[in-house]
Amino acid sequence: MTNYDVLIVGGGSVGCAIAYALSRYDLKVAVAEKELDVGMGTSGRNSGVVHAGFNNRPGSLMAKLCVEGNEGFEALCKMLDIPYKRTGKLIVGYDEADHQALIKLKEQGEKNGVKGLEIIDGAAIRAIEPDLPASWAMLSRNTAVFNPFLYSIHLAEASAQNGVQYYLNSPVTAVEATEEGYRVQAGDHVLTCRTLINSAGLFADKVSAMAGDPSFTIYPCRGEYYLLDKGTLKMPVYPVPRPGVGGLGVHLTVTVDGNILIGPSADYIDNHEDYSTTEPILDQLRREAMILLPTLNMRTVIGTYAGVRPKLVKKGEANFGDFVIERSPKAKHLINLIGIESPGITASMPIARMVLDILSEDTELVEKPDFVPTYRGIPPFAELSRAEQRALIEQDPDYGDVVCRCETVTRAQVKRALHNPIGATGVIAVKNRTRSTMGRCNGGYCFQRIVELLLSEGKSPQDIDLKRRGDRPLLGYVKGGQA
Ligand SMILES: Cc1cc2nc3c(=O)[nH]c(=O)nc-3n(C[C@H](O)[C@H](O)[C@H](O)COP(=O)(O)OP(=O)(O)OC[C@H]3O[C@@H](n4cnc5c(N)ncnc54)[C@H](O)[C@@H]3O)c2cc1C
Repeated sequence: MTNYDVLIVGGGSVGCAIAYALSRYDLKVAVAEKELDVGMGTSGRNSGVVHAGFNNRPGSLMAKLCVEGNEGFEALCKMLDIPYKRTGKLIVGYDEADHQALIKLKEQGEKNGVKGLEIIDGAAIRAIEPDLPASWAMLSRNTAVFNPFLYSIHLAEASAQNGVQYYLNSPVTAVEATEEGYRVQAGDHVLTCRTLINSAGLFADKVSAMAGDPSFTIYPCRGEYYLLDKGTLKMPVYPVPRPGVGGLGVHLTVTVDGNILIGPSADYIDNHEDYSTTEPILDQLRREAMILLPTLNMRTVIGTYAGVRPKLVKKGEANFGDFVIERSPKAKHLINLIGIESPGITASMPIARMVLDILSEDTELVEKPDFVPTYRGIPPFAELSRAEQRALIEQDPDYGDVVCRCETVTRAQVKRALHNPIGATGVIAVKNRTRSTMGRCNGGYCFQRIVELLLSEGKSPQDIDLKRRGDRPLLGYVKGGQA
């Protein structure tokens, strides 16, 4: 049995941000995550936008923490080597009613403390994005995009470098209250802790109930997306928000790597982890995207995916579900984070600071003298200058061997991803750290080469997982192999 001061359930962006914030202090901290890697839940299935904070209800935690998160996001990304671009964003409308709605949205944003908002007309829109037919827009200068996979991964790896222990592939299935805190079954491990931080996203209601507080129900609401190849869009383009729709409306987002996303839809579902995409919704996405940008080339579609919102409000209910971040009134060693839907990643660092404030009520936070706040990830070979690439190849010839052609990912990068500091496994650990398999061939070329590398390191084909434990693409050798 291993004892911790703090055990965080859930290695999403929020759990990893809390782990990183806690790793500054002299505490024994662990994260239990049910998947093979961090950031595999909602944190890896979203639009990757650093929201400015104008969409959220004034006075809400969502509004306050989003604005704070936006302000600190760029500096955090620099410190942790997370790709980030301040692109700006357009929220577009077509008639006078939309124009008035945009003026109201700007007023709401300014009430929340958002800076850099401006209403612009059709000519000014086309000076930014020539093919948009909209008549009015609100330009939000402080909206940005970032790499959502590397966000959780680098927070986790930076916190591991500062002593946080990660238990991956370790679902929390039982939580028993003890005199000093909790005894927790996490996969094959029995862990004890004084404080349990419940950051389990879509399953936070279940974890809270296991720990003695059954007050919550999460209603899953799915958002489906198209992923398109790299294009010329410069910034995300959203429609004027429609009240009663469970999200921000189907939008076009340019990712930090230049790909285009269409989505997300908003449909309540029964299964919290049903990440299917469906024909009628994909048709709807295509139709709505064509209204925003009629010249969009749907022949450049690479794939589809979906993310699920952990809503605290039922389908058809008009209530507003704010973030819940509190010491449970029913279980004193439990800190709950429930209903952390959009803008949860933008707000993740202010959320972590709020959790630290709650924890400090009964736990002394003493700074460690040797805390290292910065982190460097795997060099993004494709984005380096020729001279930088040559220097890397001289250091390690494996940088001269391209494993993924679409994204120009080298053997050296893949090897570093396989030996990551938190012990993440599966082809997904390579994909999310390097972009290999994410290009237009969908892994047709590089998947086999990643597998060869895994085999050369002593793995057997039967042990290679794709995304989840047991999600096995290979069954064994055919004739001529080793059985
Ligand atoms: C369609 C969509 C678009 C979005 N777009 C944006 C955006 O552009 N910008 C933005 O800021 N936000 C966006 N969001 C919101 C954002 O993605 C979430 O708020 C954020 O990712 C929540 O992070 P989390 O760590 O709380 O949850 P998660 O990322 O879901 O992490 C929870 C983790 O807990 C683990 N877990 C669950 N149960 C257990 C258990 N029993 N034992 C161990 N581990 C467990 C899960 O595997 C998961 O890894 C979007 C969300 C959706 C669905």
